[in-house]
Amino acid sequence: MGLENIKGNTFLYKGSPATLFYKDEESNVYIIDPGQGSKRVKELKSMLNKLNPKKTIALITHYHSDHIAVLGEGFSVDEIAVSETDAPAVRDPSLRALLTFGYLLNYEDDILPFKAKAINPTILINTNQTNFGPLQLIQLPGHTQGQLGIITPDGVLYTADSLFGDKVLSKYGIPYHQYPCKSVESLKLILNLLPKVEVIVPSHGPVVKSSEASQLIESNIKKITEIEEEIEELLKEPMCLSSITQKLTSIYKSEEPSIGVYLLAENTIRGYISCLRQQGIIEAINDNNIKWKITK
Ligand SMILES: [Zn+2]
Repeated sequence: MGLENIKGNTFLYKGSPATLFYKDEESNVYIIDPGQGSKRVKELKSMLNKLNPKKTIALITHYHSDHIAVLGEGFSVDEIAVSETDAPAVRDPSLRALLTFGYLLNYEDDILPFKAKAINPTILINTNQTNFGPLQLIQLPGHTQGQLGIITPDGVLYTADSLFGDKVLSKYGIPYHQYPCKSVESLKLILNLLPKVEVIVPSHGPVVKSSEASQLIESNIKKITEIEEEIEELLKEPMCLSSITQKLTSIYKSEEPSIGVYLLAENTIRGYISCLRQQGIIEAINDNNIKWKITK
């Protein structure tokens, strides 16, 4: 796989996640989500050679291991930038596991679907920041709390994991969102941005022209809201987290079920519970166990 010129000075390395490159006028190269995989370290290095950078800056959209792993495996850059909200989990793999899966696991634990070492960001992006060098930043919380989207000066919007391709939606059954109600707001923000950009690049999924992207965005919103409605339906009867997880994963089946997929689903359901609780829609019942139920 090579480096594909999407538009102007914006380049794409296809993969899951996709990595976006932007070369500015001073030959600084921004590398958005360098990703994972042993082959990738070598490939990214050879792509960087072609771009002949003066300085290399990795911009991480969020702390998930699959987006950052190569930075701990020999792919070195001059700077690593991430939102200040997500930075602690980039630095600390156990905190990353806790936030992603709900368990403070060692990053090498083989039940985790993705692994990445501790990585030290050198630049922290604050929550009000709208630009980073030539790049425009869009706050896209929900999948993680500090997730960023990036628009290059060529009008290419990298949506990170706020937006998934159709295949990923069916592969996972329940798309991973730490706080799904915020994810819906972020997706609506992307819908509003469509007239202002040319190309949409999801981290996991095919590149789409902005004029053709609304359907994919709508289907992501629909999936999240459908699952929320299904949970509300289930919680007409009091139910504990593990029962909700069991019911939902049998309705929204993953094509490749594994412990990792169930862990992601379970933590996403915690996210739905938090959203419903925040809106006062459900209450907790003490039944020698926590059970959740729609408030009357
Ligand atoms: Zn992610």
